[in-house]
Amino acid sequence: VFPGSVNAAGQMATLGVMGGGQLGRMFVHAAQRLGYLTAVLDPDAQSPAGLVSHHHIQTDYNDPAGLSQLSDLCQAITTEFENVPAQALQTLAQARPVAPGAAVVGIAQNRIEEKAHFAACADVSGVTCAPYAVIETQAQLQAVQDERPDLLPGILKTARLGYDGKGQVRVKNAAELAAAWAELGGVACVLEKMLPLTAECSVLVARGWDGQVVSFAPQRNVHVDGILAVTHAYEGNMPTALATRACDAAVAIAHHLGYVGMLCVEFFVVDDGSEHGGLVVNEMAPRPHNSGHYTLNACDVSQFDLQVHAMAGLPLPQPRQHSPAIMLNLLGDVWFDANGQPREPDWQAVLRLPGTHLHLYGKVQARTGRKMGHLTITGPDVASVKTVARRTADLLH
Ligand code: ADP
Ligand code: MG
Repeated sequence: VFPGSVNAAGQMATLGVMGGGQLGRMFVHAAQRLGYLTAVLDPDAQSPAGLVSHHHIQTDYNDPAGLSQLSDLCQAITTEFENVPAQALQTLAQARPVAPGAAVVGIAQNRIEEKAHFAACADVSGVTCAPYAVIETQAQLQAVQDERPDLLPGILKTARLGYDGKGQVRVKNAAELAAAWAELGGVACVLEKMLPLTAECSVLVARGWDGQVVSFAPQRNVHVDGILAVTHAYEGNMPTALATRACDAAVAIAHHLGYVGMLCVEFFVVDDGSEHGGLVVNEMAPRPHNSGHYTLNACDVSQFDLQVHAMAGLPLPQPRQHSPAIMLNLLGDVWFDANGQPREPDWQAVLRLPGTHLHLYGKVQARTGRKMGHLTITGPDVASVKTVARRTADLLH
């Protein structure tokens, strides 16, 4: 699908996205810069991507009329929201190229399938996931209580629909496990052993229809209350040996899935007594990722550019990072003072600092824990980026 091309009906090349959140918004920006028209399918009239797209199809993700409108308008379709019904992607794929495809999105939507996939390619990726057990029935719960004391203390995670630490309960013993499973409604879960994390990182990989792969260097991520807070993206953010292993593992996982599009693979670094620690694969997102937002300001090609290139069948340029960067997530909390009273953050002061790049997603209502935007700090060297990041954080909190 060439950017700017016009078909016999006089219609300009159009790219579509399922989901209208901030990831879709930044996808739309990248696609439009290349000369594409865009279409967003999202039920919300105020969706961040719908607000900036040429077309906004405001229907449910499963709505047959909405889906056929999207495939009529678009030459290729992607997704920004990992809980888009895989069935909807399958329907779209009957009419248009869809990247990533329904099958891989389905795997990433279910922790049980996701872990099975990681296990299936452990030989080529060189990494395994945390020890775990599947709990879908009362009998499995009982068996885990009786036979898997090695998984405690652990984290019980719902197999589906978890994000930003939601759908997770930390459990110390068998009794807490039973209570947590009941609290989560007895739905399909995995119990994962709690690991001694020393760090977390993620790798962004883009893979094309022809199997070509490019990737960014691993980012080191800091989570607070299960939500990404800070991403450190610069040389020396983690030991080189670990960074290389993480990158190779993510590429191997993408190849093994036959993936097309942007993929983010999250890893834990665990204290296993070795010099740099061990690498454990955590989960993957079949789309651009919050930890890759710094690429918009610190790299010559962003994760959203690569998403566009991959789905449209354009060549995948190897991205080059031209500046060290730190990304700070802006949660709704920043719009409230210590007494819970609404306030406007002091953007004047923040934007006066050198190298601060503000990205707001167009969400009208700030809520605690809601991702409202992010700030990327770039600079000539790591030390100055860290200094500005500290000052920025002080101004915001
Ligand atoms: P989500 O889908 O919410 O991102 P994750 O599985 O990535 O779910 O868990 C969120 C965060 O919880 C992780 O980034 C990590 O900080 C912590 N966490 C998750 N699993 C484990 C584990 N097995 N051991 C220690 N910490 C964990
Ligand atoms: Mg995660």
